[in-house]
Parts: sequence; structure tokens; C-alpha cells
Amino acid sequence: EAIRLGDLARQLGVKVQELIKSLMQLGIMATINQSLDIETATVLAEEFGYEVEKVGFSEDEFILPKEEDNPEALEPRWPVVTIMGHVDHGKTSLLDAIRESKITTKEAGGITQHIGAYYVGTDRGELVFLDTPGHEAFTAMRARGAQVTDIVILVVAADDGVMDQTREAINHSKAAGVPLIVAVNKMDKENADPERVKRELAEFDLVPEEWGGDTIYAYVSAKSHSGLDDLLEMVLLQAEVQELKANPAKRARGHIVEAKLDKGRGAVGTVLVQEGTLHHGDAFVCGLYHGKVRALFNDRGKNIKSAGPSMPVEVQGFDGVPEAGDEFVAVQDDKVARRIAEERQTKQREKDLAKETKVTLESFMAAKADEEVKSLNLVIKADVQGSLEACIEAVRKLSTDEVKVEIIHGGTGSISESDIMLASASSAVLIGFNVRPTARIKDIAEQEKVDIRFYDVIYQMVNEVKDAMAGMLAPVV
Ligand code: GDP
Repeated sequence: EAIRLGDLARQLGVKVQELIKSLMQLGIMATINQSLDIETATVLAEEFGYEVEKVGFSEDEFILPKEEDNPEALEPRWPVVTIMGHVDHGKTSLLDAIRESKITTKEAGGITQHIGAYYVGTDRGELVFLDTPGHEAFTAMRARGAQVTDIVILVVAADDGVMDQTREAINHSKAAGVPLIVAVNKMDKENADPERVKRELAEFDLVPEEWGGDTIYAYVSAKSHSGLDDLLEMVLLQAEVQELKANPAKRARGHIVEAKLDKGRGAVGTVLVQEGTLHHGDAFVCGLYHGKVRALFNDRGKNIKSAGPSMPVEVQGFDGVPEAGDEFVAVQDDKVARRIAEERQTKQREKDLAKETKVTLESFMAAKADEEVKSLNLVIKADVQGSLEACIEAVRKLSTDEVKVEIIHGGTGSISESDIMLASASSAVLIGFNVRPTARIKDIAEQEKVDIRFYDVIYQMVNEVKDAMAGMLAPVV
């Protein structure tokens, strides 16, 4: 915040020389083109008998809150899909297989570019795949407030079945409320056992339709490309049920799925447009940065003029490299964009200094005071399966009519970055039982403002959770 001396003089209706003289008396040597900080300007204005009123700046004036669109303005949009699953079960192979087999010759002209997401056209409909598979990226984005995925494809290798990261993927998509379709992969393998996969997944409420459940299963081989059509058809059917729609006729809003500093082109970011249409020349704000759309490229490297809902598009014209998950909002003009970005950077600096924690066992009540049934979300990591089950059992029993204990995820092994992201995205407290954090994990937890509690005795954990819940129930008025 600063004001030029000349502008201040004009506003006060005095000569600049007089201001310079007064400043000298205050011990400040100034020239006409100099800018003064607000404090100095205030003192100076008071010298001349004025009172300075601080007019707050609110970006809400310019970035309007998301509001319900008139139903008539809504048009169908393509589903956006993320592939998840255990390592080596074939996520990357499946993404590649779909990309190779489905990018039709209709779209000729242009070579596939890796921009973070790609478009697929089929006879049955169109969809978009995010290029970073796995629940880590998915939840990291969610922790930043970005939900771009409409449907999750859970890949499970038919010769291996449900593994640790399969379970994590299930819990991460459940926590996000995103519907899930199972792709049983590696069906070409001799020892493929899809029945076993179904049995194991049924334990997680992913009961196949043929067994009376409502989970869609597809059987594929990323290697031989078999079953891909079927899988895509299932995804499109699921999308139809969800009736995905957006209003293309307004200023664009979306999220960054990937960004980088390009030698020749400066900062570029791939925006997944979620509503409105982004045009060449639009001014925008994105995270702490701003800019003006200088060029738009699709995933075929084609220079395009505009991008509507569900379109991933590489944008050139950022004044800094944004982060995956940052919200991207087109605004009325450059000036507003710059102003908002400056304001955000100031706020960010203040926040970095304050470092408050998102949810702690103690702060829980205050945050949820106005809700009827409060829920205390927990992510629990324990050393072994036995103690994990004991922990879950013990805290689950603490649920009452007023406070529900919700186990967002339970797993064994050390606390990982994705556990922290899940806790952050779900406003959960992380509990470590018989596990110790590394320095890096502590840092990330601090950055993400997640409260981690460590215990090695169950009753201690139970008592503290109970106390926290009781505290919640008895607000001191
Ligand atoms: P990711 O870690 O989940 O991304 O798994 P990858 O896509 O990297 O695949 C792991 C390994 O499984 C690689 O050696 C792939 O060639 C192999 N693989 C993936 N899909 C199939 C499949 O459908 N059949 C067979 N036989 N092998 C596959």
C-alpha cells in the first residue's frame, strides 16, 4: 500500500512543496515522484488537518461468489476422470492405452502434448482424463480446495487383488464423495482372478451389480487394449447419471492441474475450466499470481481462441508459476487482477506469520458450534493391523448422538504425505499410534496446519479424544 506524493498533495489540496517541507520536518527527504507508505501519509495528512479513512479492499467485489446458475443457462459438460490404484497395478499403462487407442484421427493435425490432462472422443461421448494418476495428487489438490474429478477409475490388478494403496484410494475417493468405477486390469494374465478382486472389494462396500450391489466393474487389459471401449462406456454411463452441467456463457473459473516455468514461454499452467469460457486476452487471478491470457493451447498443441467447461487448456501469460490445485478465475481487467494478486500476497505473508492450525482436538468445538450433529474426523495410522483395529474400535465406540467420530482413513505403517493431505482436505485430526514422524512429515503437517497426535497406549488416546468431545459438548457461554 502506497500513495505517490503528487497524488496525496492533490487530494489534500496543498502544494507538493509544502508536503516536502513537512516531510523534512519529520526527518524524511522526499521528491515529488516518491511514494509514501500509508502510515507516513496518514501522519502527513493529519498535519494538514485531515483524517485518513482506511478503505478496505475486498476481492469479493470483483470475484463474485459462486452462485447457482439459471438452469436454462446450463449445458452438459464432459466428465473429468482420475485413475487410482495400487502401485504397479497399471494406472499409467491404462492412461497410455486409452490415450493411444482413443485419440481419433478426426482430431488429426498435432502431436499429443503432455499438459496434465487429455481429451478423449469416442462414438458414445467425450471425456477428459487427468494425467497424474493416484490418490496423492488427487488429495493434495483437494487439500487446496480444488475438486476437479467427477469420476474415479480404481485400477486393481487381477493377479494381485486389493492392496494397501487400493484401500487408500477407496478411502480418499469416499472422503471426496466422488463415485468410483472398478477396472480389473491385467485380464490377459494367466493367473488373473477377477472373482477374488470382486470378493475383496465387496468388503469395502464395492459390491458388483451382478451380486446385487451398485458398483460398476469393467475388465480390461492395458497391455492388449482389450475392454477399453467397455470401460469408457461405463464411465460415460456413470457421467450421464450425474448430469454434469455448467454454464459456458460467463467468465471462466477453473483450477490448475499442472504448471511449470518454460524456457521460451515463461510461466505456463494447464487450467481445467470448470465453468464459463476462457478467451484469449482475458485477465485472470490464480492463487497468488495474475496475468492475461496471451495464448491458449489444447492437448494436441493446437493454438485455440477459447476454452469452455471441462476443457483442459494450457495458458500462457502468468506472472509467476501457480501450483496444482490453485483456483483460476477470469476477472474484468488487468488492474483488478493485479490488485487482487497483490492483496493475496500480503495476506499470505501475514498468514505465514500467524501459522494457525486447521482443526485441533481443542479447537473442534468452536469451529462446529453451530452444527447439530458434529463430526470429529480422524485419520489413524498404526504400526500393525492389530493395533489399528483396536484403535478404530476404541474411538468409534465414543460416538454419541451429538458428536460422531468419523474415521476417514485407517492404515498401517508410518505417516505419509498423503495421510496429511487427506487430513487437511477432510479437516481431520491425524492420530499416530506407535509410529513416529520424520522431520519432513512434521514440516508438512505444520505447513498444512494439520494436528497430529501420537500415542502408544490406547486408553490415553481414548481419554484425550473423549475429553475433546466433552469439551465440544459443553461450550462455556
Ligand atoms: P502403475 O504403477 O499403476 O502406474 O503401473 P504401470 O502402468 O507402470 O504398470 C506396472 C507394470 O504392469 C508394467 O510393467 C506394465 O507393463 C504392467 N502392466 C500394466 N497393465 C498390464 C496389463 O494389462 N497386462 C499385463 N500383462 N501387464 C500390465
